[in-house]
Amino acid sequence: MLVVQKFGGTSMGGCARIEAVARRVIESKKLYEDLVVVVSAMGDTTDDFLNLAHYFGARSNQRELDRLLSSGEQISSALLAIALESMGQKACSLSGSEAGILTDARYTKAQILDIDTAKIKELLAQNFVVVVAGFQGISPSGEITTLGRGGSDLSAVALAGALHAGLCEIYTDVDGIYTTDPRIVPRARKIDEISYEEMLELASMGAKVLFNRSVELAKKYNIPLVTRNSFNSTEGTRITSEEKILEKPIVSGIALDTDQARVNIVDALDYPGIAGEVFGLLAGAGINIDLIVQTVARNGKTDINFTVPKGDLEACLHVLKNLQNIGSIEHDDKIAKVSVVGVGMRSHSGIASAVFNALAKENINILMIGTSEIKISVVVEVGVAELALKTLHTAFKLDL
Ligand code: ADP
Ligand code: ASP
Ligand code: MG
Repeated sequence: MLVVQKFGGTSMGGCARIEAVARRVIESKKLYEDLVVVVSAMGDTTDDFLNLAHYFGARSNQRELDRLLSSGEQISSALLAIALESMGQKACSLSGSEAGILTDARYTKAQILDIDTAKIKELLAQNFVVVVAGFQGISPSGEITTLGRGGSDLSAVALAGALHAGLCEIYTDVDGIYTTDPRIVPRARKIDEISYEEMLELASMGAKVLFNRSVELAKKYNIPLVTRNSFNSTEGTRITSEEKILEKPIVSGIALDTDQARVNIVDALDYPGIAGEVFGLLAGAGINIDLIVQTVARNGKTDINFTVPKGDLEACLHVLKNLQNIGSIEHDDKIAKVSVVGVGMRSHSGIASAVFNALAKENINILMIGTSEIKISVVVEVGVAELALKTLHTAFKLDL
């Protein structure tokens, strides 16, 4: 069977850890015939590189930034190949470009267009373990691109899809997917299996244990996905289709996203097309928005509130400067979003009121609300976000 394994930054954080990863890879190679290993940069390398670039100002040239950031994964992939060779295992590292990962040209958030697997297949046929630098690809004009923070998960899942792998294993620094971030809520429980849909919502709403676009791709191509701890041999969490899951809790997990900001367009003239105009401008600038609340118009004027990732706030405010017929624009980056997720919500009523009542009991004020079929999100002040998370975790009986 062909298996793709991915090892994250903490797992690759230093030579001793890379050695441990190499030992695990050699064990896996004995078990599975063909092995492709995707790696992240060592430890905090990507953050360190970003800080280096920030020395020269907040807005670096994006092309140069991608060349800088992608080098972290090139170092770690080469080191893992060196470690494997030193233990007698044939191994060959490839950059994203050498691995045939073709992306569009959107630096720092490129989308994968296609993967040419010829070179990887050739190496596998010669019994090499192929070590691929995660998080990166090459644009049609031959420029290095990166896929967005956390993007090595996407490299792994996309390779698993293109190579028709029997399994994609994501090795990280926790035992699997938990009911919420176990570093914030120590009483969080590990989940044995979770549906692609729920995982996608959790990842999109801030659970950075998996990159949301990797889950989206795994769902689309039905790729068997498992998250496991690279430091022990526990079973991990299976991410699979909803039909395969026997026991479906009403609420599976809760995500916290502190990387959001709220923008309020005050006193916008209320005419047909105003929302299209606002969000058209933002879409044109490649800015992703999430919760949107428009107030009922009074005296022909309305407020339009929405959330954006903090990293996009500056660009968002810049784009909105061109808007006509509005009062003012306010923003607030001291907010957080807490999202309760579960497929069981489809068939159960009362979840929203349970969320609001639990928060009210703790005197937590809700600033915005958003829902989907399997999710309820609330925006609260960042100072009470962890209390909100813990309160909801207890209220939905998710505590250990
Ligand atoms: P890697 O470097 O291996 O990609 P990440 O730091 O990106 O690892 O993701 C793992 C981290 O995700 C964990 O250490 C944990 O703090 C965090 N996390 C957030 N939400 C969850 C969750 N629901 N289950 C497990 N981990 C979570
Ligand atoms: N090294 C990149 C990051 O820190 C990609 C990844 O780890 O997945 O975002
Ligand atoms: Mg990650």
